[in-house]
Amino acid sequence: MRILVTGGAGFIGSEYVRMLLSGPSGAPGGAGSTAPQLAPSAVTVLDKLTYSGNLENLAVVRDDPRLRFVQGDICDPALVDEIVAGHDVIVHFAAESHVDRSINGAAPFVTTNVLGTQTLLDAALRHGTGRFVHVSTDEVYGSIEEGSWTEGWPLSPNSPYSASKAGSDLLALSYHRTHGMDVVLTRCSNNYGPYQFPEKVIPLFVTNLLDGGTVPLYGDGGNIRDWLHVHDHCVGIALVQEKGRAGEVYHIGGGTELTNKELTGRLLEACGVGWDRVVPVADRKGHDRRYSLDISKISEELGYAPSIDLERGLTETVQWYRDNRAWWEPLKARAGVA
Ligand code: NAD
Repeated sequence: MRILVTGGAGFIGSEYVRMLLSGPSGAPGGAGSTAPQLAPSAVTVLDKLTYSGNLENLAVVRDDPRLRFVQGDICDPALVDEIVAGHDVIVHFAAESHVDRSINGAAPFVTTNVLGTQTLLDAALRHGTGRFVHVSTDEVYGSIEEGSWTEGWPLSPNSPYSASKAGSDLLALSYHRTHGMDVVLTRCSNNYGPYQFPEKVIPLFVTNLLDGGTVPLYGDGGNIRDWLHVHDHCVGIALVQEKGRAGEVYHIGGGTELTNKELTGRLLEACGVGWDRVVPVADRKGHDRRYSLDISKISEELGYAPSIDLERGLTETVQWYRDNRAWWEPLKARAGVA
């Protein structure tokens, strides 16, 4: 099986590539499901290497003869057409992914997330690609006060990021309905883990605290997110790639909901510092209050269960950032993140 992974030099895409090439034995153990043996004969990564793409994320699999890296833009039809040819499966991660950046400027989000997805879908259609796995987010549903979203819930995105992802989701499903393409969709909650670009809340807070600095807490800190280790997200995607039903959406979540204030408390504790390091800041514009996914469909149909509980995951993640300053220090300096 020849797999094309878009955005495979980013946070989640690179975890997927490392998992594909190292196999389930390379994965952290736990009580939940393990990744199926997809045993690819070739893995091509197509990645533009934007500010969040980083070849260092693939360093541990760099010498694997099955891996080919192509630096390029998913919005480039000629390149995409050439690369898609000869692949059996596309797993599509490439996206502009940071909500705050989408508030400051939505254009790259619409271009990459919508136009880029359509460019890939067209190429997959032309070449008769076996399966198109579209990786998306719970943010497309907006915000929910109580209960949890099921897969048929109406989309009501609130940020330019989530609106562009919703657009790409609907396009992907339309290629299934219109052309009969084998498209499957995943929507996941907030991810954390190693190799996450240090502008997202967990690596930003951890690296600021490790540097002796402060952390900015939005509004009243009461916004609720469900946290999932990136490895568990990738196990869910692999299950959907292997045996998800065409035209279906599958939720992937962790079942661990925390307010931002609770998350901050855990990170302060893991770093051995106190609340004097927290600086309240004005709330994010249009900040969704709560996300919550019902994951019974993927659990019942595909046997999915997360394996890494939040306590263990956060402890290991903080340790990873402690041990890998050489990875994140240059990224923070270059991006001017603080
Ligand atoms: P990321 O920003 O770390 O990685 C995105 C990758 O895409 C980078 O390597 C970047 O270089 C590449 N890229 C961006 N624009 C491109 C283009 N035009 N052409 C080719 N490559 C391009 O993001 P991430 O957190 O790894 O997210 C990956 C996917 O998972 C996204 O589709 C995102 O919407 C989705 N997702 C993320 C989360 C989360 O918590 N991070 C949760 C659910 C879903």
